[in-house]
Amino acid sequence: MKIQWAFYDNGNDTEEIYYENLNKKLYESKYQGHLYCISDECDAMIKFTHRQDEVKFFSTWNGQGDLHDIECPYFLHEKGEVERKKILDQIESAPVTDEHILNTILNKSKNLKSKEKREKENKRNTTKRRVQGEQTSRTEKIDNGEINSLGSSMIRIFSLDSKHMTPDYVNYRKCVFGKIKHVYFNEADGYVYLNLDNAQYRVSIYLPQAFYADPEKTTKSALVTFVNKVKQELLALKELVIICVGMIRFKKGSSKDMNVHIISPSHLLINDMKYYEIITSNSINTNPYNYL
Ligand SMILES: [Zn+2]
Repeated sequence: MKIQWAFYDNGNDTEEIYYENLNKKLYESKYQGHLYCISDECDAMIKFTHRQDEVKFFSTWNGQGDLHDIECPYFLHEKGEVERKKILDQIESAPVTDEHILNTILNKSKNLKSKEKREKENKRNTTKRRVQGEQTSRTEKIDNGEINSLGSSMIRIFSLDSKHMTPDYVNYRKCVFGKIKHVYFNEADGYVYLNLDNAQYRVSIYLPQAFYADPEKTTKSALVTFVNKVKQELLALKELVIICVGMIRFKKGSSKDMNVHIISPSHLLINDMKYYEIITSNSINTNPYNYL
């Protein structure tokens, strides 16, 4: 696990930094002491190392490993295999209701509509301590094996820009958002890929057969209509931003390509429109977000 992205925050600006784009001189003159974990929810500071042999990497500032949120993959960096597996198992088996997921994506959509980068940073300064307190109590609960008794509403599903997704996030449940680049529908096997923006990895939203397994939620033919609308809008060069909640997995047989598994039509929004709104309307809204 190699940290590849960090937020630069100097009090006036925030910027997303990819480790390969830094060098020792640039880091020391500008970024040192101002880099944070790419997860919005984490307080951990990140440092950059550029060795003589040109090897570059990010790592968590000494002693700050526990300032990563428990839902951040870098929280597990210095933990042993046993604790790693335990936490990932708990994330996977946590009960999450459709209602909770819908609230998560609607909130994210609202935030992306109003949010400037500056606000993201304000959140870091004002609410982090409180979040940290909540995290502590939640960690204890998990250690006692009591997570189920907390109920779905207590499970926080954190968001992740598709651009920042790396294999470190595999086996986490995230609210992933990003621009749709391409749509692929496998007619014979009945699944869909929506490819998202990411410069290093192939990242897709994956709609498996389970997506339409419950005819009360949707059907294969409704999915086909949905896919065709999305295709049409992409052909018309419309910018489509999807927000969805699902488990992140490696694509079968790959250790690089990643899929976000979406198993219900209520777990996604495109340009602030729900699945059925897209099916029943003539076109998809123009991109309402200013996050990019
Ligand atoms: Zn983190």
